[in-house]
Amino acid sequence: MEHSVASETCEAAAKPCAALKPTNNTAIKCLKCDKVYIFPADKDDCLAHLYLEHRLVIADVEDIALIEPYLQHWEKEFQTHEFEQYCTTMFLDQLPDGTYSKNEKYFLLCDILPQDYELRQRLQQQRLSNALLRHQFELTDRDFSKECLFCRTVIKGLRADYLDHLFDKHFLLVGKAEKLVYVDELLEVLEENLNKLMCLYCEKIFKDRPTLKEHMRKKGHKRINPNRREYDKFFLINYNRNNAAPTPRKQQKQPRQQRNPSHTDTSVDFDKHFARQDSDHDSDWSDWAGEGEPVVIKCLFCAEEQTEFVKVKQHMLESHMLDFDEATSALNFYQKIKVVNYARRQLCLLRCICCDLQFDEFELLAEHMAQEAHCRLGERASWDKPEFFFPYMENDGMLCVLDDSAGDEQDPDVVRIISEDNIAQINKDAERLSLENFKL
Ligand SMILES: [Zn+2]
Ligand SMILES: [Zn+2]
Ligand SMILES: [Zn+2]
Ligand SMILES: [Zn+2]
Ligand SMILES: [Zn+2]
Repeated sequence: MEHSVASETCEAAAKPCAALKPTNNTAIKCLKCDKVYIFPADKDDCLAHLYLEHRLVIADVEDIALIEPYLQHWEKEFQTHEFEQYCTTMFLDQLPDGTYSKNEKYFLLCDILPQDYELRQRLQQQRLSNALLRHQFELTDRDFSKECLFCRTVIKGLRADYLDHLFDKHFLLVGKAEKLVYVDELLEVLEENLNKLMCLYCEKIFKDRPTLKEHMRKKGHKRINPNRREYDKFFLINYNRNNAAPTPRKQQKQPRQQRNPSHTDTSVDFDKHFARQDSDHDSDWSDWAGEGEPVVIKCLFCAEEQTEFVKVKQHMLESHMLDFDEATSALNFYQKIKVVNYARRQLCLLRCICCDLQFDEFELLAEHMAQEAHCRLGERASWDKPEFFFPYMENDGMLCVLDDSAGDEQDPDVVRIISEDNIAQINKDAERLSLENFKL
C-alpha cells in the first residue's frame, strides 16, 4: 500500500494521546446527511466523507478523546444550525478533489469555539473516569480466567496473576497491572499478533512459531513497544497527558483589534487565494494587521520576528540551518500554506515539527530540534491534511508573503504536472486525515 512507507517513519516516533478507549461498534450518523458509519471501523470513511461531500474538516481529530460522542454532539447541533454558525469558514480556489474552482467554501470545526473546546475537555474527563473505573475493577476482580498466551496453563484469579505468569514463566514483560487498563483487550491484541506469528515488539512477521520465539528471545523483544500509538490506551499514564497541553488556537488568540475592511498591501497575495467571508460570527482570521501596522513574520522554529520575509529566511538558514526556499521548492502555494500552519501548530503544542515528540517547555523542544537537526518541515503525511489550509496563528504574516508564483503559474507544462500531482495529493488528503490515526 502506498501509505506504508510514510506510516513506518511515523511509527518510529513516540506519539502522545491516541484514541485511548476500548473499541466497540457504534453507529454514527453523518453531521449533515443521512449516511451512517460504524465506528471505529468506518471512522476514516466518515471523516473523508465529511471533507469530500460537505467540505467540513475537524481540527486535531486524532486528539479528540471520544470521537463518537463528539460527532453525536455535533450531529445534533447541525440538525438545527448551519456549519457557518459554528465553524471557521474559508474560501479556497479548488474543489475537495483538487480541481481548480474559484472561491470554494470550506469549514473548520475547532476548539476556538468555546462550545467545541468545552466538549473536547468534557470528553477527555469522561475518558479518564471511564478508564479509572475500569482500572479499579480490573485490579480487584478475581473472576478473571484465561489460557496463557504461550503454554496451556489456564490462569484464574487476578489479571495481575496472569501478567505475573507471563513474566515469570515466559519472560514477557507487558506491564504492571497497576499501570495498565483494558487488560483483556490488550491480551487479545497480543494473542492475535502471536497467532499471526508477529513479534510483539517490532511487529515483524515470521514463518513459524519457533523462529518467532527464537527472534523474540535473541533480540530481547519480549515486551510490547510502549511507543506504539495503538498501545497508548492500555497505559493509564496516557490518560492525563493531554490535560497539560495548551489549547492551541485559543492561546494564540490576541485581543481583537478593530476590524479593518481594507487589507494592507502585504496581504495581497494571500487574498488572491483566500477570500475571507464577512460574517457576523466571531470569525477569527478576519482581522489582519491593521492599516499602517507592519506585518510581522515569525520564524517557524523560534520567537524571532522580522518585517521582511528575506530576513526571516536568512535567520532560519543561519540559526536553524533550514533553507526555506529550497525546502519548499517542490511545493505549490497551498502546500506551503499547509506546511506553515502545521509548523505553527506543532510549536504551539510544544511538539517537534519533524518527529512529533512532545515537550513540557519550549526551551527543551528548541534544544531537541537543534541537537537532532529537526528544524525541518516534517514528513508530508504530517502536514498534508485539509485542516492545515486554515491559519493556525492569528495574523500570521508568513502566510501573506508565501510565494505563489513558483509552482502555480510558470509555463503551461509545469502547471499541468503540478496540478495533476496536486489532485492526487488532495484526494489522499481526505484519506490521510483519518488514515493517520488508523495507521499509527
Ligand atoms: Zn454526509
Ligand atoms: Zn504460560
Ligand atoms: Zn522483534
Ligand atoms: Zn528562529
Ligand atoms: Zn524531533
